[in-house]
Amino acid sequence: MIVIRIGQLAEQLGVHRNTIRNWINSGKLPARSIPGKRYLISETSFGKLCQEFGLERSSMRLKYVPGSPVMSRELALMEENVRSIGLRSERLRPTPQWGDICLTCGSCASACAISGVDGLDPRKAIRMAVLGLEDELIASQWPWKCTLCGKCEEACPMNIEIVSLMSHVRSLRDRDKVPGPLHKGVIMCLEKGNNLGIPREDFVDLLKAVGEDLAEESCPGFTVPIDVKGADMLVTVNSKVPFAEPDDLKHWWKIFYAAGESWTIPSEYWDGVNWGIFTGDDESVRKTVGHLVDNMYRLKCRTLLLPECGHAYYATRYALNRWFPEELKKFEVISIFDLLERYFREGRISVDPSRHLDLTTFHDSCNYGRKSEKAFGKGYYEESRHIVRQCAPNFVDMYPDREGNYCCGAGGGGLAMPFKEERVFFARFKARQIQHSGAKLVITSCHNCRDQIMKSIRKEYDLDIEVKQIWQLVADSLIQSGSRGTVERFRRTSK
Ligand code: SF4
Ligand code: SF4
Repeated sequence: MIVIRIGQLAEQLGVHRNTIRNWINSGKLPARSIPGKRYLISETSFGKLCQEFGLERSSMRLKYVPGSPVMSRELALMEENVRSIGLRSERLRPTPQWGDICLTCGSCASACAISGVDGLDPRKAIRMAVLGLEDELIASQWPWKCTLCGKCEEACPMNIEIVSLMSHVRSLRDRDKVPGPLHKGVIMCLEKGNNLGIPREDFVDLLKAVGEDLAEESCPGFTVPIDVKGADMLVTVNSKVPFAEPDDLKHWWKIFYAAGESWTIPSEYWDGVNWGIFTGDDESVRKTVGHLVDNMYRLKCRTLLLPECGHAYYATRYALNRWFPEELKKFEVISIFDLLERYFREGRISVDPSRHLDLTTFHDSCNYGRKSEKAFGKGYYEESRHIVRQCAPNFVDMYPDREGNYCCGAGGGGLAMPFKEERVFFARFKARQIQHSGAKLVITSCHNCRDQIMKSIRKEYDLDIEVKQIWQLVADSLIQSGSRGTVERFRRTSK
């Protein structure tokens, strides 16, 4: 190590003293302050400086700290590393809540179901951001194995925005290095109106065919209202449903039929899925929601329903709040829970509770629950339970639940990413929660959660359960014959 005085070094290099101070403050010249207005710098750093100025090191009149050559090299290395991690990252620090006040208490890591896998630890991610190890953090898979569930934030005593950090780190990854098909889905959704690229004609034909089935099966006279101008409610679709499970479209349609709803599906830009929220791509989130807004104007609807996914609701409300505040004054975004509660309250649907007598539990979606509560001041907890209890009266809660609930392990785009082992491991908490509840029927409110519990957790953890979406539970419980009378009554009273 070499001891320098700023004035002495400035004189020998032929620069102003402030230049040396600036180099030290900016980290260009790694140096540690020691008593007597002196600084310690490593031989390596000093060597680089001499090289830059074309000077011979031997010609410099400076004092060396005694010590063995090996020891000096080690110290120099340590000194360099400490300096390099001490550089604050501007890219990762748009808000001070991210790290400066972190206590390193580890509450976040204790709450996180994926902590420890592959070295992932939310506390470490915070330290890395604070210490300027941004390239390492961006290159790591941690932010992608994190499900953005917010359980760590709920545990954090300092209210540090860990989910924002993870999302922001995701946004800094080169787009061609985004894991899985997430980025391709984003581009497809912007270009084709849905993230699977289903052509308009195919979509419309499919809707009509499924609608005809439903009319024959249980809803006489039913037709799918496509592009109906002046309908009260515009309804989006998850592209996975027409693509892979088109019969699932019937659940909501049965409910709308029974409730006498005035609704429509747009034939273009109908996808509620918004994968930009998973890739940290704010611009695509804005554009995707902008297409929904255009549809609202084009079809003159008053209410927007995103009935398929927790993240779709969250992303749309987030985007409307942020980029379309004026539109939010013109139309309402309604959650599935608000809508179903409204139907029950107004007597527009009635259900038979004797069809689901198994012990039933409800899985709180992170997006509808604690994330909506934090972002919008309203999380949906009691509404869902009220709806489920009307259809399945033998109800039990999991523990923990509501804002403390464990993520299913498939949030943050987890189902579309190539980290299956981690996703299944993450889910061990959810599997245990379900098992301990004793429930035979698990109700969800999001496609990701439904698929993860039904297709992964049930199999991997050998659970003897049935899984239904909350709207499927309601549709399967509907008293259709009585409901047509109910619809007529509703129409009369609402005139
Ligand atoms: S819980 Fe909050 S304060 Fe504690 S280590 Fe995690 S981020 Fe830091
Ligand atoms: S958001 Fe969820 S998965 Fe990500 S670090 Fe926090 S608790 Fe873990």
